[in-house]
Amino acid sequence: MSSIRRTATCAFLLAALTAPAEARGLASINPRLKDGPELNLGQYVATPTASVVTVPKTFLDKSYFFGGMVEAATDNCLTLGTGADPIKVRFKVEGDRVLMLADQRDRVPDIGASSEDVINRFKMREVGDKVELDLANPEVNSVTVVLGASGYAAQRPGYIYDVVNEPGFLSYGEKYLIQNTGVDSELPARITLAIKYYLKECASASSYKPKAYTDEDFEKYGFFVTQRTVRKDDGTTDDKVLADRHDLSKKITYYLHPSIPAKFRPAFKDAILSWNKVFKKTHGIEPVEVLDGKDNQIPGDIRSKVLYWVDYPTPFGGGAIGPHTSDPDTGEILDADVIFYAGAFRDEIAGLRKEAEAAKNAPGDSELTSAIKEGLKKLLDLLPKKANRGFVLRMGSQTSMNFKPGCEYPIEEDNTIAARASVDVTEMTDDQAMERIIREVIPHEIGHTLGLRHNFKASADLKNLTDGAESTTVMEYQTSLSSLVEPGPYDYAAIAYGYEGEKSFYEGKEFMFGTDGTNAVDPLSNQFDSGDPLAYYTGRYAHFRKLLQSGLFSSLASYGRAQKRNMEVIRKFVNRGEQSKQAFDFLIKALTEKSEAPPFNVMERLQAMLVLTSDAPSSYARYGSRANYEALTDAQEAALAQALVANVVPDGKDIFEIRLAMMEALKARNNIYGYKGLEALANAYKKAMTPGADGAQSKPLPPREQELALRIQQAVGAYFNK
Ligand SMILES: [Zn+2]
Repeated sequence: MSSIRRTATCAFLLAALTAPAEARGLASINPRLKDGPELNLGQYVATPTASVVTVPKTFLDKSYFFGGMVEAATDNCLTLGTGADPIKVRFKVEGDRVLMLADQRDRVPDIGASSEDVINRFKMREVGDKVELDLANPEVNSVTVVLGASGYAAQRPGYIYDVVNEPGFLSYGEKYLIQNTGVDSELPARITLAIKYYLKECASASSYKPKAYTDEDFEKYGFFVTQRTVRKDDGTTDDKVLADRHDLSKKITYYLHPSIPAKFRPAFKDAILSWNKVFKKTHGIEPVEVLDGKDNQIPGDIRSKVLYWVDYPTPFGGGAIGPHTSDPDTGEILDADVIFYAGAFRDEIAGLRKEAEAAKNAPGDSELTSAIKEGLKKLLDLLPKKANRGFVLRMGSQTSMNFKPGCEYPIEEDNTIAARASVDVTEMTDDQAMERIIREVIPHEIGHTLGLRHNFKASADLKNLTDGAESTTVMEYQTSLSSLVEPGPYDYAAIAYGYEGEKSFYEGKEFMFGTDGTNAVDPLSNQFDSGDPLAYYTGRYAHFRKLLQSGLFSSLASYGRAQKRNMEVIRKFVNRGEQSKQAFDFLIKALTEKSEAPPFNVMERLQAMLVLTSDAPSSYARYGSRANYEALTDAQEAALAQALVANVVPDGKDIFEIRLAMMEALKARNNIYGYKGLEALANAYKKAMTPGADGAQSKPLPPREQELALRIQQAVGAYFNK
């Protein structure tokens, strides 16, 4: 979340992509504002209020945390609570204007500006010992929203609403109409956006002691960090990396917003308080408390940590987020909220129930076609008997399925899945299913609010798993009905380590840890898997193939994407660790094995080729070369070249374009093995195209074979010319 420091002119940058991973793409609909998905902020945001506030003159002498968060946005394009890190600001009077300055004196001036940066410039008027500030139309502040490849820049004027003016605290909402300035034409041309800004006076003294967090620490336990670069007098710089933590000398108080229905409040409370069991053991204290919140205590308000219930469905499915903000100087967590997308979970439960019913009563009134019903029956046969319990199957555009006892397997196409819980809808009422989701999701989100990052390696940490659990931590994306619903051994160790408590929880212990970025390269760090990841993903590959045969994929393309995801994980094992040979052999087999029966396996071979000839998993492009696979060895390159050649040889079932792609892949292997492969192909075709030369071929190749042969000759020629 450092985008704010990288922009020279945008005083405020709200980026959906800077929220925790599971927040990405989730919708933003603020139920407090009571409206449907087609939002018109002009109708439902509190009416514009006077924009002039009166504060004591001494207000301008103090320093403040300045931040803001999205309260609502049209077209579900931003998550409620999405915001920017708070920055420390102070004021400076210049004639009839007051400047809000970001205190950046010890930051690297990478924004190319002076040591002080003007965030806002407001009109002001002195009236006795008071000052009138006009919050409307500040001269500097601009708002930019980044959504994927597209940007939105604010068009002023907005209008001011909901002003709260209390000693040491000032907040106000501002509504903007924002134009899409980017290239992504799928996003709306303009959006209306309501942002709640706040200024909270910085406490003059704090008992909190910052904790430096080193790379070595980060190898063991995942904490969010606050990073600063401190410029020293001699011009050199010092990188400061501080763990984001609470001050345990104070209570950590969470408020349950009135939006959370009464029947689910006990589950929320239990889930939150489960962390007290950890602190009790690691620190001998129980700092976490849960109180009933008020309607105006909403996420993003820096004064209170709020759990908030979003009742509307969201287009990206169920989920929850647990964002937090920290003091830029110390890393102390200032605010942390949990937003629970209940409407989406409810839709999901309903969908699961419908599918479970359809599968059970095949002849009934169902939207499922008979072919699908047949497929479902076949699938049920494939499932180990126990799996029928939590039967979860999603088709078409839907995203998850279940084929191992109790496990939910998402076929992710965009990696934006939210924290998802496993429910057995056939044995639960809707309320019971929702409660199960709350009990699984909330401890995870509260973990985030305590500073903990994901640990996607926890399900592979077999030696630290306790009785029947599939993870050592609630910070994993767990999938099965045996998911942890209370903090596990890793969580105790992480809290003891990061918050400097009882050493016996981590000394002499070694937990496996890997987090969001780690997933790109570490074969054991994956979301929604369990146990031995190579066995899991090779099994998943085989199972998807059976599902394809049963007609359970909506398209060959979606099947291809699903298989590619499996193969990308398998590729991570190649030349990393003991299972390297097994993984490489698996992929080569997927590339070369030719199925004799429909639906054949052209797609698998294409995807295997794409994975084996890529430098990095496609979904981790944003990590650059840090996300690269290990390079292939000479022997592996040779085997790959041979496999590619084998795939260009016609066998009557191949798709011509795929064979061309194989040939192009071979050509791109700019090494001795690629060359040898091309040469072998060229010779084979030359021979085939010479009628009667040695009796092997007496009639000309069909036109497409001729075309392929020509392309191969061109490829070989191009290779020689290099
Ligand atoms: Zn999470």
